[in-house]
Amino acid sequence: MTRKKIAILSLICLLLFFIIIIVSLLAIKSDYRFIISEKLASLSRSADCEIVDIQYVERSLDDLYGDSSVKFDDSLLLINSSYMLSNEYVPDIVSYKDVLMSGTIVDSYVSLADSVMEKYGKSLYIISSYRTAEEQEDIVNQKEEDVAAKVGASEHQSGLALDVYVSGYSGKAFIKCEEGRYVNTHCYEYGFIIRYPYGEKSITGITYEPWHIRYVGYPHAELIYMNSLTLEEYITSFFKDNVFYEYDNYIISRQKESVTLMIPEDCKNIVISPDNTGYYIITAEKNS
Ligand SMILES: [Zn+2]
Repeated sequence: MTRKKIAILSLICLLLFFIIIIVSLLAIKSDYRFIISEKLASLSRSADCEIVDIQYVERSLDDLYGDSSVKFDDSLLLINSSYMLSNEYVPDIVSYKDVLMSGTIVDSYVSLADSVMEKYGKSLYIISSYRTAEEQEDIVNQKEEDVAAKVGASEHQSGLALDVYVSGYSGKAFIKCEEGRYVNTHCYEYGFIIRYPYGEKSITGITYEPWHIRYVGYPHAELIYMNSLTLEEYITSFFKDNVFYEYDNYIISRQKESVTLMIPEDCKNIVISPDNTGYYIITAEKNS
């Protein structure tokens, strides 16, 4: 056998060896397999929003606050170390089965948990929900900054985020079970996103947390998931300011904080959320 043939054979053996190692790793590590398959799937999915020219009316914030048909909530607050919650921030917290969370998210969490129960016969539990600033400070003192957000930068202080698990699978192990993988790929249908996706720490500041779900509501969760965005990207660069976008049967507009807002006409179920970066995001369902 010539030297060239031996070299080629050695290379093939080496390649086969690495392929066997990778395939074995993927076969054993269901969490790695899931992360890779999700990253690959994200390459082929997207959801487009179109700018539309629609009729609107300028309304003052006072007028809007006094209108019972308009809902104000905090669902689109961007909360991180650059956009922190102010010391004066008071979240809308309720108790659901002795778990404290934002009143905005209860129905969506119940629907998601019901769906997990229906599909897999397992309960979706909450290990951590609303935290006061003092409770967050205790956690920060015990952990690294890229694992626990500092006081004011934690979504848990808003009650909009939940750390979830099923029996036997919590934390990083959550995606080793089918219920966890289901939550990761379907929570957007219930208005939640995986707030700290894999490989996005340079943007979010936090390492991958497949257990931390954050409510942003529909259709925002779908747009974020389908376009594989972080909340940072969605809030600060997905929308142009002061224009109207159409997605599905919804009108969305991100407008600079002002005494008046442009409210689309011929719409219902108007929801207005500040985004914590100096803008309001208006979401409205078209009448027809
Ligand atoms: Zn969390």
